[in-house]
Amino acid sequence: MTSPTPASTTPRSGACQCGKLRFTVSGEPDYPHTCSCGHCQRLSGGPMMSWVSFPLDGLAWSGAEPSWHYTWPDSRRGFCPACGSQVCALDDGATSIAVTLSALGNPPDLVPVNQSFRETAVPWLPQVPDTRS
Ligand SMILES: [Zn+2]
Ligand SMILES: [Zn+2]
Repeated sequence: MTSPTPASTTPRSGACQCGKLRFTVSGEPDYPHTCSCGHCQRLSGGPMMSWVSFPLDGLAWSGAEPSWHYTWPDSRRGFCPACGSQVCALDDGATSIAVTLSALGNPPDLVPVNQSFRETAVPWLPQVPDTRS
């Protein structure tokens, strides 16, 4: 008998808008949150992006792999070279990778628990409450 895999660690699949870029992530999701920093706003074209992190060794690309753009000297964003969808963010040397909740299709069990960079958030949208315990 093997114990059932906890639902939270079941591998999840994600994709960009055009579908050329596909991936799976597995392992425990860490810190789902939104971010309204200037980089997230300009890159996404929207008022914020939404993120959750997974162990880097649990990430697998299938099909195309992302193109990368460094937004900081040691931190880069991964996006689809065909459609431009923002799908992930990776710090140099990190052991985890942040993927967008959007690329994952906004799984209902991954609800943002906080919002980063509230100081640069647009004033016309409610902010995500900090529900970390
Ligand atoms: Zn694409
Ligand atoms: Zn951001």
